[in-house]
This record gives sequence, C-alpha cells and structure tokens, in this order.
Amino acid sequence: MSETPTQSPHRLLLVGIDGVRLDMLTRIPTPALDRVIASGFLATPLVDPRNITVSGPMWATVLSGLWSDEHGVVCNERPPGDGIHAPDFLSRILRRRPTSELFAAVSWAPLASRVGCGPLVNPETVECFVAECGPETVEDYIRADAAVAEYSVRRLADEPVRAAFVYFGEADEACHEFGVGGEYETAIRRCDAHLGKLLNAIDARLDSDEWIVIVTTDHGHVDAGGHGGDSLVERQVWIACSEPNLEYELRDSAEIASVSVRVTTGSRAALPTW
Ligand SMILES: [Zn+2]
Repeated sequence: MSETPTQSPHRLLLVGIDGVRLDMLTRIPTPALDRVIASGFLATPLVDPRNITVSGPMWATVLSGLWSDEHGVVCNERPPGDGIHAPDFLSRILRRRPTSELFAAVSWAPLASRVGCGPLVNPETVECFVAECGPETVEDYIRADAAVAEYSVRRLADEPVRAAFVYFGEADEACHEFGVGGEYETAIRRCDAHLGKLLNAIDARLDSDEWIVIVTTDHGHVDAGGHGGDSLVERQVWIACSEPNLEYELRDSAEIASVSVRVTTGSRAALPTW
C-alpha cells in the first residue's frame, strides 16, 4: 500500500439520545437521524455482556471506550469503586491538542457533574453545560433538552469547536413513565428535531465539510418501559455516523471514544483505509 499523507483533523459532534429502541427508528419518522445515516451508515450492535443495560455504565462506555469491567461504573448511583473515572474522549482530545475548543451539553447531571456515578465527562478539563432537570419528569426533560439544544446550537453557530458531546434524555424518561407508545414516540421525534437543529448549525458553518456526526443510544426498553435486563429490546443499541469510511471501525459502543479521538486529532492511524 502506498504512503498516504496525514489526514487533516476532523471536527466531531457526538450526540447521545438516551433509551431509544432500534425498532422505533423504522416505526416513526426521524428525518434528522436519516440525514446522518444517508451520508454514512447505521450500525446495530448489542450491548456487550460486560455491561448491564443501564445509562451510567453505558454512557461511561461510550465516553471512555471501555466496558464496565475496566471503567468501573456499574450503576447510576455510585462512581467507580476506586473513585477514579476513566478519561473521557474529550479530555483525551485536549491532552493531544491542548488548544482544542470542546464542550459537553447534557440534561442528565451525572454525565458531567459529581453526582451519582458521575462525572463521566470531566468538568475540570472540559467546558460542561448541565441543564438542571429538577425532579426528573418528562416535562423537566423537555425543558432541559431544549436548553441543551439551544446552548449547543449557539456554540456550534460561530465558534471554532473541535469536538462536542450533546445529550438528550426525554425519550428515556418518557418510556419509563408511559412505556412504548404515543408519549415515547413524541419524545423521540422531539429529540430528533433537536438533532436537526444541531445538523443545521453545522451545515451553516464555513468548515461544515470537516465535520463528522455520530449519534448513538445507550440501551433499549421493554414494552412496558424499563431496562437493565438482558432481553433483545434492552441490549439492542445503534450507532449512526455521517462518515462512511468509519463503518468498519465503529462496530460497537466501546469504539466510539477512540475513533472520535483519532479523527479529531489527525492521527493517520485513525483511518487506515484512507
Ligand atoms: Zn439510559
């Protein structure tokens, strides 16, 4: 194989939409997600047996690239047993490229603050926006997700962002409260609309061709609402990515973090097929 020049680093948006069953993506319209898939691909892995199908352990996997046996997050309520979190992908980007502009914007506090199993993104190294959810009802998440979207669109509109993690929680909460049904569908459509605004913000940028967008979920739900078990609908997750060349690298949730670090820091090893 001939020598290829080092790829210039990409910019990356990772969007987490909590608790969205794969079958919902064919049952209801999700035009924003379809835009991502149309330019790239959709991977549909199962959660590895090393993790339970619970948000904290799974987002820790997405953000660190390790499974529970290595990152140590095994529930939503407590940090790892030794109190030390595995480095998140944004902190790893910053270590390689210290001038990178990064942010995380989330509506579930443990993702980016020291509550429950958090912080899964280190707020001491990465600029983090945590929308306050209050008592965590669907209505709370609707407000919090809207604040996350508004903040993220503003940051993406006119700043030299290298990478970002944006998280929406309403869909998961809706399924917990109401099970699979109209409320869940409405929530997923609202999350997809938020994603659409983020994609529009990126499309309007002068550097829009440098961006890779990855969208993923952390677990599914049983029909009545709820997860944590081993059924197919709980273990089935999905990863949508706008860059077709990443299809053979992004095969499961634990590969998202390392791929994200590599594409944003310009490592040639990131994309061996280019
Ligand atoms: Zn979750």
